[in-house]
Amino acid sequence: MRPEILYPLFAPVDTLPGLGKRLAPLYARLVGPAGAETVHVVDALWHLPNGLIDRRFAPSVAEAPDGMIATLTVTVESHHSSPPGSRAPYRVRCRDDSGFLTLTFFHARGDYLHRLLPVGQTMVVSGRVEVYNGERQMPHPDHVVPLGERESVETVEPVYPLTQGIVLKTAVRCARAALERAPDLPEWQEPEVIGRRNWPSWFDAITATHHPQGEEDLSAMTPARQRLAYDELLANQLALLLVRLNSRNVTGRAISGDGGLRAKILARLPFGLTGAQQRSLEEIYADMGKEERMLRLLQGDVGSGKTVVALLAMLNAVEVASQAALMAPTEILARQHMETLGPLCAEAGVNVALLTGRDKGKGRQEILARLAAGDIDIIVGTHALFQPDVVFRDLALAVIDEQHRFGVHQRLELAAKGRAADVLVMTATPIPRTLTLTLYGDMDVSRLDEKPPGRKPVDTRALPTTRLDDVVGAAARARDGGAKIYWVCPLVEESETSDIGDAEQRHAVLRQVFGDRVGLVHGRMKGPAKDAVMEAFAGDGLDVLVATTVIEVGVNVPAATVMVIEHAERFGLAQLHQLRGRIGRGDKASTCLLLYANPLTETAKQRLQIMRETEDGFRIAEEDLRLRGGGEVLGTRQSGMPEFRLADLAVHGDLLASAREDAAMIVAHDAGLHGPRGPALRTLLYLFERDAAVRTLRSG
Ligand code: ADP
Ligand code: MG
Repeated sequence: MRPEILYPLFAPVDTLPGLGKRLAPLYARLVGPAGAETVHVVDALWHLPNGLIDRRFAPSVAEAPDGMIATLTVTVESHHSSPPGSRAPYRVRCRDDSGFLTLTFFHARGDYLHRLLPVGQTMVVSGRVEVYNGERQMPHPDHVVPLGERESVETVEPVYPLTQGIVLKTAVRCARAALERAPDLPEWQEPEVIGRRNWPSWFDAITATHHPQGEEDLSAMTPARQRLAYDELLANQLALLLVRLNSRNVTGRAISGDGGLRAKILARLPFGLTGAQQRSLEEIYADMGKEERMLRLLQGDVGSGKTVVALLAMLNAVEVASQAALMAPTEILARQHMETLGPLCAEAGVNVALLTGRDKGKGRQEILARLAAGDIDIIVGTHALFQPDVVFRDLALAVIDEQHRFGVHQRLELAAKGRAADVLVMTATPIPRTLTLTLYGDMDVSRLDEKPPGRKPVDTRALPTTRLDDVVGAAARARDGGAKIYWVCPLVEESETSDIGDAEQRHAVLRQVFGDRVGLVHGRMKGPAKDAVMEAFAGDGLDVLVATTVIEVGVNVPAATVMVIEHAERFGLAQLHQLRGRIGRGDKASTCLLLYANPLTETAKQRLQIMRETEDGFRIAEEDLRLRGGGEVLGTRQSGMPEFRLADLAVHGDLLASAREDAAMIVAHDAGLHGPRGPALRTLLYLFERDAAVRTLRSG
């Protein structure tokens, strides 16, 4: 059970003040981890400032420079509402001894402003000063308070990453409220480590991080931020080791089929296995055959043929009359797996079924009944497989595709539905060699480092956006030659700036060229609508698919041979690589056009150059790490690295190594966490939602 001291942090995020029904989901999406079902107050704490506004500058009105944020003390003289129907702002004239300041408000309500700024009162206003025809103005001040509350305004205010609908004031208010709920937690760090590194306590660290006093406090290298990153890494490493230890302790079952079903399927495949596929399968079969639980990672670039490996491994389980599950991170991918596996399995007499969040009522009940009865051999699905009423007759192997969307606890949850079920995790996200061991130290690794034969290299070019017309023309010619085209625009929702190519707009423009042969798919679309578009693109319905990065993971349309990526400079290397992996899947030559907007940063230039040079995911991953380490701060989400909330592996890499050592020491000396550090370490695991790892303590 979660320790009581953490309860305030694990209340739902919508209990923070002032969010309400409309803002709560927006805020939850902003601060929550990708794909999280419940977002908690603690997620607001992990949403760290990335800038600051210094409101300590408090000149006289006459001295306030144009364009600067200032906090001014002024007396309200008069209100001037705009004439009805005019677009002029509502104006409030104020002054101090040095001169006049006009506060301007568009779409304002006079009665509200009269209450906020009573005539004759001295008020403190803070915001950006504009000098307009020699007159000083402050449009929509950020703060208006009576003189007595001046100190509350004259501070350094943190700036948070925002999203459409969530303004800075809301983000600041929520972060402050979350901080107020933060308890002073017991120290889980070794006193020696804390002392040597000069780190603050957890409470002081999180408090300081949310109250930057200067630019230097925003660095990932402040003692406070390093400590928080270390805490997260320690929780991660400790959880991995505990889970690993536990899975070693739980006796597994030796699974070793007679090969009958596998032989049937292999005979029906239109290709032979690559050497890498064979090698990986041998490793997997060997693990499954041991009286120990398998916990193996299958790493392979996009298109390296992981699906067929998963299928054969699952058949090994089916051959001994057990069941297997294949879980994908999205509905589209689950369906695609189903389409690949379904026909093959049908021919071999293996029953496969699909279960996603969209299955409801009777249909769902029927699947569950068949699964519990053992009538379904292989179930393919999404998160829906986690639901408690999904019960297997005998689950022997859980395969989890695209691991980064799922956490360690989730893969355990699925495995827990079986009796000592083996776990195979598949990932297409290339991870630098230097990090594989540390990140997946708990897992054995198989690598598909060889592409299926016959693939043509993708011709990758970088072009400035000013050549958009040429690109549209080239795309039209390619289409006339029978090509299918992906057209990728960066996500609308997550954008902070307005100049990002809007997928909807691009869709409208391309319609003028491609007519109704161009479709649109983006993250805000509902599942069925999204699938319908994807299916049309995979079939004959569409030639061009305008998409936000929802196509990123795993989607397979072999006829697609052209990919245009707009604002390629905004994508991380790993993500560009994943996207490009959507093409070059068939036997036809493919082209990838990276459109960029000038001016390019040095790092962006290098990223594009690397994309042109190589298609090797592992090399790209190494370069990604190198460039990220080179100073440009990219969100971990964008880079495709496993998701840490506080740690950035490019800058906190050395902390990862120490955390791993620390975790290994803990597990070696006190694997049950019963010693003096034990209770605090359990709290740490719960704080970072490694609950499953704590559960293994009780059973183990
Ligand atoms: P990923 O590793 O990205 O999941 P897939 O399993 O989707 O890759 O495989 C990509 C494509 O390659 C599929 O169309 C699959 O049928 C094909 N494929 C897999 N293995 C081989 C092979 N050994 N030879 C030829 N084609 C293969
Ligand atoms: Mg795949």
